[in-house]
Amino acid sequence: MRYISTRASSGKPPEFKRFCEILLEGLAPDGGLYLPEHYPQVDETTLAKWRALPYADLAFEVLSLYIDDIPAADLKAICAKTYTEEVFGSAQIVPLRPLEAGLYLEALSNGPTLAFKDMAMQLLGNLFEYELARRGEELNILGATSGDTGSAAEYAMRGKHGVRVFMLSPNGRMSPFQQAQMFSLQDANIHNIAVDGVFDDCQDIVKAVSNDLAFKRQFKIGTVNSINWARLMAQVVYYFAGYFQATKTNTENVSFTVPSGNFGNVCAGHVARMMGLPIDKLVVATNENDVLDEFFRTGVYRVRGSTDTHETSSPSMDISKASNFERFVFDLLGRDGGKTRSLFHDQIASQGSFELGADPAFPLAAQRFGFVSGKSTHADRLATIRDTFGRFGTMIDTHTADGLKVAREYIQPGVPMIVLETALPIKFAATIEEALGQPPARPARFEGIEALPKRVKLMAPDAAAIQRYISENVQ
Ligand SMILES: *Cc1c(COP(=O)(O)O)cnc(C)c1O
Repeated sequence: MRYISTRASSGKPPEFKRFCEILLEGLAPDGGLYLPEHYPQVDETTLAKWRALPYADLAFEVLSLYIDDIPAADLKAICAKTYTEEVFGSAQIVPLRPLEAGLYLEALSNGPTLAFKDMAMQLLGNLFEYELARRGEELNILGATSGDTGSAAEYAMRGKHGVRVFMLSPNGRMSPFQQAQMFSLQDANIHNIAVDGVFDDCQDIVKAVSNDLAFKRQFKIGTVNSINWARLMAQVVYYFAGYFQATKTNTENVSFTVPSGNFGNVCAGHVARMMGLPIDKLVVATNENDVLDEFFRTGVYRVRGSTDTHETSSPSMDISKASNFERFVFDLLGRDGGKTRSLFHDQIASQGSFELGADPAFPLAAQRFGFVSGKSTHADRLATIRDTFGRFGTMIDTHTADGLKVAREYIQPGVPMIVLETALPIKFAATIEEALGQPPARPARFEGIEALPKRVKLMAPDAAAIQRYISENVQ
């Protein structure tokens, strides 16, 4: 399998890369995102074979279609080591729970940090360790987090050879549970830096450090953000696993609803659908930050400014732009890299938005690609959390509540609707208490984590100081 950039221009022959070349890279050199040259097709016979497989074997089968520069036995061992009952809490890894008839929750949040990002990040940790050892190289991951991404990255990379993590977070702004998750890690290769500032300050520092090319090269700085193709690819697997649990044959359709922010999760659903998995609708659920809902309703993609980006009770969906969205638009436009570049590079830079409403391709988003969307507010979250607990005795988190609210707008008789559960309620306890008047259940292994010793360095929002800190800790 070869990979191309979403901004590959039509005049020049595209530059092809193999999987392990893009594994440790972020954006393509032309500023685009990597995608496979084509989507491998999975027919009914293959689905029938895959239906009976344990999750780790299913992951191996899917990944094998995208990775041909890691020997099969090694890739199989990496999958087996990643997707274990010990790490994900059940033999199914992503068990499906029925709510009412035809409506299911797919549990993606029983990994080490209780959010779906573990599904991909745990694999990434093992792939990074493998590839770095093979090359005899090291990598220092620098990231900024307001919660879920940072902790998922740290739990994936802790104790791994050849990798260090330097994770910036805004001091005092994460939930006490999220702080405890990250800061209680005592592994020598994990460095928590609490920045005296807001999340944007953290992101600006990451950008400044990454733009210092000499520093970046000398200290082997890398990232693990959501545009990494390997993360997206790992997420494709649980669409298959959810499908197999909700159906008995390999021709039935199902729909998925995905609580969305950066469009990484639902983009994996798009890839699964393009491979031939019988998915009817992909329902994109947003919160008050409705960049994506606006696009799927009107064809207008408008990046929000910081004053227009709301802080909500589903904070992992608080985005001003959707960094993976370019991948879908590339497919929507018939894989026209020149046109994709002009939208995401030229038009976003000059006017902060583009408009496809009048483009003949736009109706295909729904008709050919199955995308529909909806939006949910704080009041909707509270009502949905209350209703789900009252009727089914099931506590859901705020992001999953956004999904469930929007899913109900698109349920069709005879088509199972699967809502992806993207986090457990304990991560967002304050809103659960507001909705239910009682605290969420806490998995036993997290009892008392707020009282554990914390390993964190408080620093000023000063890129040069943080570069010094990195250089002192890379020995
Ligand atoms: C990251 C995250 C999301 C958004 O996922 P995207 O891939 O960015 O669309 C939704 N819910 C939770 C709990 C998350 O951590």
